[in-house]
Amino acid sequence: MKYYILFGPPGAGKGTHAGAIAEKYNLKHISTGDLLRAEIKAGTELGLKAKSLIDAGCLVPDEVVEGMIENAFNTIKGVDGFLLDGFPRTIAQAESLDKILAARGESLKAVISIMIPDELVYERIKHRASIEGRADDASDEIIANRIRTYHSQTEPLIDFYKKDGRYHEVAGYPGTLEENQSRVLKMVESLA
Ligand code: ADP
Repeated sequence: MKYYILFGPPGAGKGTHAGAIAEKYNLKHISTGDLLRAEIKAGTELGLKAKSLIDAGCLVPDEVVEGMIENAFNTIKGVDGFLLDGFPRTIAQAESLDKILAARGESLKAVISIMIPDELVYERIKHRASIEGRADDASDEIIANRIRTYHSQTEPLIDFYKKDGRYHEVAGYPGTLEENQSRVLKMVESLA
């Protein structure tokens, strides 16, 4: 099995490009954000607990998302691997992922990082808000909190993965969606 991480700040285009990558390499795309929103929609206890944190632009506890990922690895069959989107988001989650994979006799193949500057994060999220209506896309303050959270908790993962050569970065701008997509796919192709 091949395990990839799709990394980048909110609004970098992870969700947008994940489908094309997953299809091309027969990977299961797993977005922890999507899984959490599904829990909220279904009104589960986990969803209720996560909602206030997500709506405020904060991270949910590491154990919550780690459990979701492990559950997905255990139950999803018929694919050649997994494309993780929005996980890991903390060093603790990255260390857990390494342990979860090692216990399965597997390891992470690569981190595919899509980079955009903070100004673009605002622009992209504002645009998405008008289409998807997510509560955590709704105000400047919440978006600012997510960018702060990204820089303080998630960005340190870049050095974590650079250390052992697993980190590969591609620009998520400028250009049209198609131009960005082809740049991302070309980069993934170079890893395969
Ligand atoms: P975006 O890429 O726009 O930040 P996501 O859908 O990936 O959106 O995540 C939405 C929210 O879900 C995050 O702001 C956070 O509250 C929660 N979340 C998603 N993944 C994780 C994770 N790995 N660890 C902690 N919280 C997470």
